[in-house]
Amino acid sequence: MNEYDSNRILDITKKINYFPTKIISEADCYIINTCHIREKATEKVFHDIGRVKKEYRNKKKPILIITGCVAQAEGDLILKKDRYVDAVIGPQSYQTINKVIKDIENKKGQFDITNFETIKKFDELNSTNNSNSKVSSFLTIQEGCDKFCKFCVVPYTRGPEYSRSFEEILDEADRLISNGSREITLLGQNVNAYNKKNKRLSDIIYALQEKKDLLRIRYYTSHPKDMTSDLIETHKKCPKLMPLLHLPVQSGSDKILKTMNRKHSVKQYLEIITNLKEKNSKIEFASDFIIAYPGEKKDDFDKTCELMKTVKFINSYSFIFSPRPGTPASDMEKVDEKLARERLTIFQNIAEKIKLNYKKKLLNKVVKVLFENKMSKEKYKYFGRDEYQNPVIVYSKKNVIGQEKRVLIKKFSQHTIYGELIDTDNFLAA
Ligand code: SAM
Ligand code: SF4
Repeated sequence: MNEYDSNRILDITKKINYFPTKIISEADCYIINTCHIREKATEKVFHDIGRVKKEYRNKKKPILIITGCVAQAEGDLILKKDRYVDAVIGPQSYQTINKVIKDIENKKGQFDITNFETIKKFDELNSTNNSNSKVSSFLTIQEGCDKFCKFCVVPYTRGPEYSRSFEEILDEADRLISNGSREITLLGQNVNAYNKKNKRLSDIIYALQEKKDLLRIRYYTSHPKDMTSDLIETHKKCPKLMPLLHLPVQSGSDKILKTMNRKHSVKQYLEIITNLKEKNSKIEFASDFIIAYPGEKKDDFDKTCELMKTVKFINSYSFIFSPRPGTPASDMEKVDEKLARERLTIFQNIAEKIKLNYKKKLLNKVVKVLFENKMSKEKYKYFGRDEYQNPVIVYSKKNVIGQEKRVLIKKFSQHTIYGELIDTDNFLAA
């Protein structure tokens, strides 16, 4: 979502002639867009501020603005601690950025803009052309969260759940498609909680399915509680909806899920997986896990490992619990640090093994790849992703960017899969 926000901030600043530059040392304005989800977020910001100061030591000071969730959560501290920072702007008020830049140009002082003005923000975004022309684009449809998991800062930094209007979303999708996007990932902190005037996420997916030049649809990130039957049905009825679902579970222990306030059990989670598989046997799953949550005993941890082995997630993001300031879990007694690290290693080894087995099965299979760009240094080498978001590289004499092609998988490394284009003429072998 920060990538989407960063692009939209740049779309707004273009209106006052501030354009993105690759020559960092010559920027007139420096914007650091931040994330607060896990530890060291604020330290990272101060580190980045230090880098900017060093870069501009013998030059005119650029305008320096901190945006995003760290600005929202700890903006007053940042402004107090460092006079070099001109403004902090929260994630729900970046539509004000042009006024802030103009005021800073006029030397009006330091600014703390951290109100929740989500409606005004999307009003501004709707009237601002989304200039993204990537083959694969993000489109925010929902923001914020009302679920208050005990470990999470999102309800405090992004505010309450807000869904954009159905029409605005489809307008933005049309613009992205006419800019060249062939894949759209619908975004939200709880994307499947989308609800506006009786329209649900499933309605958006059905509408996108009808867009002629759009080849692929994804949505990210979902909460198990909001996997409603209409949404599950889209995985059967919409061939453009990719067969990979990122569905965070956090833990395989009901006791821990309860103390996290996740509002679902492991059994309910597994029922969702079964329902989805019944609708679409091709579907695979990815997930998020928090290891060593306060109160996690060996037995709870073992259940999380068991769940990983049962579902065989093809991708997973696992982190040790990180106490976030202001959240209820931040006051709970932490699991011993050494034990937490050991558990993370055990868990990630299991996850890696499962992923490796999955990748091995891909060898000599034909997969569909949507090509996103050319590899920067290598002639005839193109990068794309298969339906399960695996990165795939092929050689081709012809430009295949923006096209979906069948690829025979030949080999893989830790992060990339290599293949040969098939059913085309004039292609070099990988
Ligand atoms: N809304 C989604 C859900 O309910 O599953 C997740 C969105 S959250 C922004 C992304 C991920 O960050 C979570 O799934 C969780 O695994 C991780 N996360 C959030 N707070 C964390 C914390 N305090 N410590 C470790 N990981 C955390
Ligand atoms: Fe955070 Fe997701 Fe829980 Fe909301 S549902 S509080 S975003 S983890």
